[in-house]
Amino acid sequence: MFLDIKELERDPLDFEEDFKPGVLDLGGEARQTGLLKASGRAEVVEEHHGKHQVIKDIRLRGRLAASLELQCARCLDPVPQEVKRDFELLYRPLGTDAGRDELSVTDAEAEIGYYQGEGLLLEDVLREQVLLALPLKVTCREDCKGMCPQCGKNLNQEHCSCSITVEDPRWAALKEVRGTLKNSR
Ligand SMILES: [Zn+2]
Ligand SMILES: [Zn+2]
Repeated sequence: MFLDIKELERDPLDFEEDFKPGVLDLGGEARQTGLLKASGRAEVVEEHHGKHQVIKDIRLRGRLAASLELQCARCLDPVPQEVKRDFELLYRPLGTDAGRDELSVTDAEAEIGYYQGEGLLLEDVLREQVLLALPLKVTCREDCKGMCPQCGKNLNQEHCSCSITVEDPRWAALKEVRGTLKNSR
């Protein structure tokens, strides 16, 4: 859905959109498993700079909700993740702030972005908001054993023989203690 500055100038736009998986390109980080629901309002906000310059910003307020699947950071298994986010964003024309020290921001609370040309795609905005809402790291469970660094087997599901050859410094310390105990007997 293209948010056209000219159309928004005539009328603010109330939107309520459902996006099927695949419509928003979330990259390799997340997979959308159900509908992504977004609703809100887009409108033009005018900023007056001096006597003659009027800058037309697009203000976007709304919320989104989506069911996603992320990858476990240790074993790479899919981990379901619900994402909900409210947003209040202000998009200024690209180049507006170039060479300007002082920003007269209409709404200090809003996050600021830039639009190029005649407007911006709602899909791009939502994509960015979804990615911002993702946790940096998820694990499938607290005690996920991860993958064997040598053979790549998922150690939650199977054992592998190569993990024995990886010497844990804690085991080495324990062996030493055992040795001392034997000797003192
Ligand atoms: Zn895991
Ligand atoms: Zn292994």
